This record gives sequence, C-alpha cells and structure tokens, in this order.
Amino acid sequence: MKRLWVLLMIATFSIALLGCGNSGKNENQQKNETVRVAIDDKESLKSQESSQADNVKGDLTIKMLNVGQGDAILIQTKSQNILVDTSDTDERDKLRAELDKAGVKKIDKLILSHAHADHIGGAKLVIDDYNVKEVYNDGTDRGKYNVYKGYINAAEKKKIPVKTLQAGDKLNFGNKVSFEVFYPTEELRAKFAADKDYNDTSIVGKLTYGNFSMLFTGDAEKVAENEQLNSSYKKKLKSTVLKAPHHGSKTSAGADYIKAVSPECVVISAGDPSDPTGSGNSYGHPHNQALNSYIKNGGVDKKNIFWTFENGTITITSDGKNWSVTTEHKSDWINNWLKNKK
Ligand SMILES: [Zn+2]
Repeated sequence: MKRLWVLLMIATFSIALLGCGNSGKNENQQKNETVRVAIDDKESLKSQESSQADNVKGDLTIKMLNVGQGDAILIQTKSQNILVDTSDTDERDKLRAELDKAGVKKIDKLILSHAHADHIGGAKLVIDDYNVKEVYNDGTDRGKYNVYKGYINAAEKKKIPVKTLQAGDKLNFGNKVSFEVFYPTEELRAKFAADKDYNDTSIVGKLTYGNFSMLFTGDAEKVAENEQLNSSYKKKLKSTVLKAPHHGSKTSAGADYIKAVSPECVVISAGDPSDPTGSGNSYGHPHNQALNSYIKNGGVDKKNIFWTFENGTITITSDGKNWSVTTEHKSDWINNWLKNKK
C-alpha cells in the first residue's frame, strides 16, 4: 500500500491528537520537535476522536435490520444504499418489510460476507426485486449449494456483475464514506475455502466516515481474527462500532482481537433464543463469553451493546465526528442475560 507521510507541524499538536495529558517533556522540548505520523496511524488516532452524542443528525445511517436469525445491515450515505448480507431464506418477508420501511428501491452495492444461508438467504429476492447495481462476495465458489446458485443465477440473468472482495480492496460508498477490506487475503481464502464451515472466508472490512468507523466481520471466527492480528491490518482494527462477529458467538471475540478493535459500541444480530426450532436461534446467541469479552477486553459499556431480538432494528447515525444509536425498543436485557445464561 502507498505510504503517504504527513508532516505534523509541532509536537504539541500531535500530543493533542493523542489526547495525552502528560508527555513527560517540557514545553520547549515539545515545540522543537517535528513528528512524522503515517496516514495509517493518523487514521487510527482519528477514530478514537469520535464521540457519542444525543440524536446526531448525520449524513450516514447504518441500520442493523431486525431480521431474525441472520445478518442484514443497511448503510445509507447521501448518494448510495449499501446492503451487507440479506439474512436467511425464512426471514425474507422481514427483510423486504425492513427495506421498504427504509424506502429503499435501489441498492448500489450488495455485499455478501460469506455463503451461509443466514447471510445470503435473501440475496435472490433482493436481486430480483430491487435495482441492484453491483454484487460483491467472498470469492469462494459454492456452486453446489442451491442458495448460492440461486443468487448467482439471478445476478447473471440481470447482467449484474458479481465481484470478489479481498484484503486491500477499497470501495467508495459515496459522500466521503469508504470501506477497506482487511480479510481474507487470496491465500487465506484458498486455504479456508475447502472447509465445510464457511465462516472463516467471511469478508471483514472497515467503514470510515471522518472520525467515525465501523468494523464489519461477517461470521469470522477466532482463526480469522488471529490471521488479522498477524497481518498489517492489526493497527487498523480500532473502530468506533463493532458488528459482533458471528452473531455474538463464543467461537469469535477472542481477547486480543476485541482489545485491538476496542469499540465503543457493539451491535449483535440474532433471533429468538426461546424458539430453537427451524431456523431459530438454537445456538443461544449471544454467548456470555463473547459479551464479557466486549466488556472486559474491549472496555465497552454494557449500555452500548445492542441486540436486534431485544432492541429491534438498531440505527447508528454519524456526521463523521459524533455518533448516536437509536433502537425500536429500549431494553436492559444484558443484565438479566449475563446473570441467567452461560
Ligand atoms: Zn451467520
């Protein structure tokens, strides 16, 4: 990657940026120094500057849609609609209702994190019934899998390009909102493509809008998290909001990963755990081990952890500096959940 260097005028400015109160140096020493900060590092510092505020009116809204057991996240910038995942085939009515409620007709980019049904189940419906411009997936060929074949054929029929996303790719979401892919690399995709479990080829990437950022993780598990920690992207993982990996499962949210992301807010998409039949949440997501990892390793305040089943659709708004969260339902589920569940 191109390394651009930014010359910061004086050390005092860089210290303000870091938020360090006491550098241990006197003022004269600070003034005489010039500090070089790589853009990469500057970006990660910037993300720490975002702050939570009340009812932010911003150009960016991100809705984690209440679509049962699966993921579907609608990102709306001033110029584009982006849909990340489409929940399960059984949840298509909910997905359609949510998209209609948001007034969506055109989807500029449909990003499908990986080929499990609870992420691609609604993809054919979306491609058939909405004006989809581009489709992106994790690049693994799951041609033997009907749900996968269904959306690939639907895209082909409408001549919509299906492109692969991999580490290093960058997408422009419009209005200065960007998305950078951290995982998987081509090599890791090939390595994990043969697995029966598709989770570890999940696309992981970070949306950035000014000082605000959100990490999208699909169903990436600890293996994939560790690969990111061992890559050059480790220093970029720090994000304002974390899309809970794998619906808040304990198979993800490893201590070092959550420490690296160190989010201020975590959003979880998972269905009704008391209805473990069919495509319900028989997994008991979110797991306490994961919740405790967000809290203890990530330093996340409990009140900033949201779950679609309890909170309904979760809407994050940002103006590139401040951010706020609104939910359909207020709920203090987390205290009871931590007390009563394993
Ligand atoms: Zn999933």
